[in-house]
Amino acid sequence: MTTRVKTATEILAIRESGRMLASILSKLEVMVEEGLSTKDLAVVAERELNVLGGSAPFLGYQGFPDVICISLNDEVVHGIPRPDKIIKAGDLVSLDFGVNYRGMITDSALTVIAGKTKNRQQEELVKYTDVALDNGISVVRDGVRTGDIGAAVEKVLKSKGYGIVRDLVGHGVGHMLHEDPNIPNYGRPNTGPWLKAGMTIAIEPMATLGDEKVVLEADGWTVRTRDHSLSAHFEHTVLITEEGYEILTLRESLPNLKG
Ligand code: MG
Ligand code: MG
Repeated sequence: MTTRVKTATEILAIRESGRMLASILSKLEVMVEEGLSTKDLAVVAERELNVLGGSAPFLGYQGFPDVICISLNDEVVHGIPRPDKIIKAGDLVSLDFGVNYRGMITDSALTVIAGKTKNRQQEELVKYTDVALDNGISVVRDGVRTGDIGAAVEKVLKSKGYGIVRDLVGHGVGHMLHEDPNIPNYGRPNTGPWLKAGMTIAIEPMATLGDEKVVLEADGWTVRTRDHSLSAHFEHTVLITEEGYEILTLRESLPNLKG
């Protein structure tokens, strides 16, 4: 299914969907600490989503068994929350969550480092993967092409010498979790499908401190780096407008963050 221009009613619903997602991810972000299991975080995500009145598009998606993907360290994406998977200080914790509200789906992710790390390499990986997302979003407007976005993301990640995961990509989103077209995290300007105002897309750079190659774990879901290098992942759902964009999953900066 190709992502299409959303109606005014659909845009109202997807805005609300994005607000729910942003508020829950913000809560999870400050909760991350050593000693918690990844399932502990998933339980909170599910409870908060129920309170807000949304539903979880990840649950049951092609058989995925939970409401959220939580991936640690060399795991890039699609980690299954588990009660025996305990977060340690210094772990890179990637939270990838989705919300469905009135049939409109948003998709967003972030990576946070558990505890007070002093590891500059890790901190930079997290920071610049987020910067790459911002740079990709910055070129979005009516008439943008997927290659324009990919090139803007790639520019930042390449400048840091990071591996850019190619087997996983951004995508159209809205009525379904994954709609066409694919939005790779690399590319050349003025190439690829055109996008129009009113479409909603997920941009999601995945970067590694090593090689770009990834492998699938035996659980059939978890994708990790082949060379076991650390990985970070940031994602926003963005509405394309005539003049530019509206980030639907933008988290309000909290003044009293832990630490
Ligand atoms: Mg996602
Ligand atoms: Mg996505």
